Amino acid sequence: MTAADEIAAAVEGLRPDLARLARELYDEPEIGFEEHASAARIAALLAAHGVDAEVGAFGLDTALRASAGGGAGAASAPHFAIIAEYDALPGIGHACGHNIIAGVAVGAFLAAAPIVARLGGRLSLIGTPAEENGGGKELIIRAGGFDDVDAAGMVHPSSGSGTSSVLGQRTTGVRRVAVTFHGRAAHAAGAPWLGRNALDAVVTAYQSVAQLRQHILPTDRLHGIITDGGAAPNIVPERASALFYVRSAEVGALRELTDRVVAVLEGAALATGTRAEIDVDPVPPYLPLQTNTALTSRWTEAFAARGHEIPPPAEPPQGGPSTDMGNVSRLVPSIHPSLGLGGPDDVFPHNAAFADLTVLPAALDALVDAAVALAATAVAYVADPELRAAAAAEFAASGGPSRWEG
Ligand SMILES: [Zn+2]
Ligand SMILES: [Zn+2]
Repeated sequence: MTAADEIAAAVEGLRPDLARLARELYDEPEIGFEEHASAARIAALLAAHGVDAEVGAFGLDTALRASAGGGAGAASAPHFAIIAEYDALPGIGHACGHNIIAGVAVGAFLAAAPIVARLGGRLSLIGTPAEENGGGKELIIRAGGFDDVDAAGMVHPSSGSGTSSVLGQRTTGVRRVAVTFHGRAAHAAGAPWLGRNALDAVVTAYQSVAQLRQHILPTDRLHGIITDGGAAPNIVPERASALFYVRSAEVGALRELTDRVVAVLEGAALATGTRAEIDVDPVPPYLPLQTNTALTSRWTEAFAARGHEIPPPAEPPQGGPSTDMGNVSRLVPSIHPSLGLGGPDDVFPHNAAFADLTVLPAALDALVDAAVALAATAVAYVADPELRAAAAAEFAASGGPSRWEG
């Protein structure tokens, strides 16, 4: 029996368990850092297959770690990490499909673990909280969770029936900038001249960010919301708040654009006689994703072998969303291919309808095939020194490991 056959048989055997996991996470969605039941379900499923998992790893209550292989003298053995996410979105459940990510990761880990162990390599499953709003992966990086990892991989669902992004996968980096303006309350009709209007500061800031948007790179994105606009119309708001996301394709441009946004906020305070309390990076920045094409080609091969047509690499669209997997991808060679769930093209992630796609039979088929391909990638990494060398050379050529320095 080849490794590929062994992986396929193992994942097929897990199909009912993986379907149940994806369904249970869908039925009980939990937002970032509150994924207690979700992490417990994953740990229970691993335990049912004889794997001990640590919930609460890396100092985070809902992070998870399980390991296979290693043993005496294995510190230098190649170490591949399979990444799981399982947080949901507020109000719209698993509309980013992280229940599928969890199923793919658990299936890939359980299928690859015995093979990796036999080969003398190491395999980890790292469960990362709060991809949506907390940067759990960066927190795990800071806690040393990736210090002995050599390469990493995960799969993310996407809209439409297309099944692979491969070379086309690109995300922006994102930083959050929160601002609270402090003014002075007054009766809005009785003595408006005594007031200093914090809501005016927010509105000025919001409009100025909109003007700034005309003069940024096509690969940049700026957007925000007003999170506090005052208490009552007859009170001049003494306090008002907004939250902006700053995105760019490059780390340096991300820094520069953030500085320009901060200047806009300070200008709005000056214009309105208020004081700006600015919080840059209330959660860790997400760095732009850097896909390792040597590793991705193995994923593509294994995924195509499951009967999927892989579209030729296309020039990816500019802008776009962000993921904290970007931070991992700048630390070690990584893959983050997207996975079409076979739904209609007009159902997108972060729309409630997308959550419903994740429990349809087509999504389960995609989950199983992706788990097979991710397991095959992990096994290939451990088994094939030429692949490791190619992945390392490509990673070094793109600048080698880098971390966000605040
Ligand atoms: Zn999302
Ligand atoms: Zn997501």
